[in-house]
Amino acid sequence: MCRKYLFVKLGFSGFEYDVNSIVKAFYPDRQVKVLTQESISLWQEYREVQKELESKKDSEDLPGELTVEEIRIELYETGGRMILEAEGKTPESFGATYEWQSEATDDPEHFEGYKAGFKTFLYKTLESHVGKSLPWGNLTGIRPTKIAFGLLEEGKGDEEILSHLKKKYFVSDEKALLSIDIARRERQLLSHIHYQGGYSLYVGIPFCPTTCLYCSFTSFPIAAFRKKVDAYVDCLIREMEYVSKIYGDKILDTVYVGGGTPTTLEPDQLERLLSSLKKYFDFSGVKEFTVEAGRADSITRDKLLVLKKYGVGRISVNPQTMKQDTLDVIGRKASVEQVLEAYRLAREVGFDNINMDLILGLPGETAQDVQATIDAVTALKPDSLTVHSLAVKRASKLGAWIREHGMEELCNTDETMKIAAQGAKLLGMEPYYLYRQKNMSGNFENVGYALPGKFGIYNILIMEEVQTIVALGAGCISKRVFPDGRIERSDSIKDVALYIDKIDEMIERKKALLTS
Ligand code: SF4
Repeated sequence: MCRKYLFVKLGFSGFEYDVNSIVKAFYPDRQVKVLTQESISLWQEYREVQKELESKKDSEDLPGELTVEEIRIELYETGGRMILEAEGKTPESFGATYEWQSEATDDPEHFEGYKAGFKTFLYKTLESHVGKSLPWGNLTGIRPTKIAFGLLEEGKGDEEILSHLKKKYFVSDEKALLSIDIARRERQLLSHIHYQGGYSLYVGIPFCPTTCLYCSFTSFPIAAFRKKVDAYVDCLIREMEYVSKIYGDKILDTVYVGGGTPTTLEPDQLERLLSSLKKYFDFSGVKEFTVEAGRADSITRDKLLVLKKYGVGRISVNPQTMKQDTLDVIGRKASVEQVLEAYRLAREVGFDNINMDLILGLPGETAQDVQATIDAVTALKPDSLTVHSLAVKRASKLGAWIREHGMEELCNTDETMKIAAQGAKLLGMEPYYLYRQKNMSGNFENVGYALPGKFGIYNILIMEEVQTIVALGAGCISKRVFPDGRIERSDSIKDVALYIDKIDEMIERKKALLTS
């Protein structure tokens, strides 16, 4: 087992998230832990690691198995000087003193400028020490397209937005231009959405054939939960009934059935779910009705026929990769042949808007593997492609896998991102939504590409947070967007049995959010 720790000691609190994100982006193969006075449990971990290191110092026991590095960042009260140093425990140790022209402040009015100064300092220092730039610069905690979107709304031109993204956040030209391009397309696509008079609906099916290595969603293995599915669908229908009553006067713009894997439901269960949606909601204004079929091993002709019968327009058949060895490693039991067959069936049944999800940076995958996946997928000619950079989530099994195998095998690069973008371009697709997550392989982004007219509007809505989304089901979060832009959320219990038991309370939570 290989463990590489990078402890960052901060002499102050409040910037832990930004420090973690930026340092991690420069040192993707380290477990970055940001220590402040308040982080008691992390200090405990730090002391344990130090003890272990000390105990192994003179032994020949697995050299290189455990490495510990430290960066110390101190902020003096005058705020003018900071020291960044690494203690001499590794060959990479360094130490230097930097001037930072900004005053420490808690004054909210000046806090943003103060924080921006700190992030600039941190980024520029690491950039010069590590000797590389990051594609998204020091941009953390905000979606790049949101910035571009907001500036376009203010009437700013491309040049001005480009300069803002470069000067303030050190975003590369390529990524800044991509953000502007996507924000422009999003604005156009959302121009027909009913912001205050409308809403979108999400229905969560939290079951999957197996759990993927990287999964952090609410998902339970269907085999163990088969007996609960009917009761779960009953609860969804109760939620539908309630929401349709209180939102009867609003226009339903988009409907998205996701998960999990909705097609783990049997045809009769899907029939009950979709017929109830049609019964309780007015679909006359619905611009997009998606069911994320997702896993090829759950897709059958009968299920596809049910989706078609109820007017589902957009579905996903998600391979993630077309390399069988990788599919086996990530625990996605569907074979490449099953993906091809599911796709063929979906076309045969008449679906003319099929999305395929891919992940870059999967264990052991090289640029040649990604090229082979893109070649195989483009040969199928899907209508949209969603290209993710693998994100390491705490709730997934991937963390344990990394502790065993190290980060070296998870490699997403500029080259693989370009291979995917080129494949989408060759199919005639345009990028239409983009988001970034914490701990993404290569510190890149997720991008949705689609043929004109086949853009996934719900995907933009969930990212840009401009419309109320009512989410039904276990582990789902409803989001209410108020006219002044304020957003309130309400979640439901993740545990399926508890969700079923407490369905009245789930409905009460919705009432509190949607009728206050
Ligand atoms: S298909 Fe999606 S939701 Fe299901 S286990 Fe895999 S990643 Fe999780």
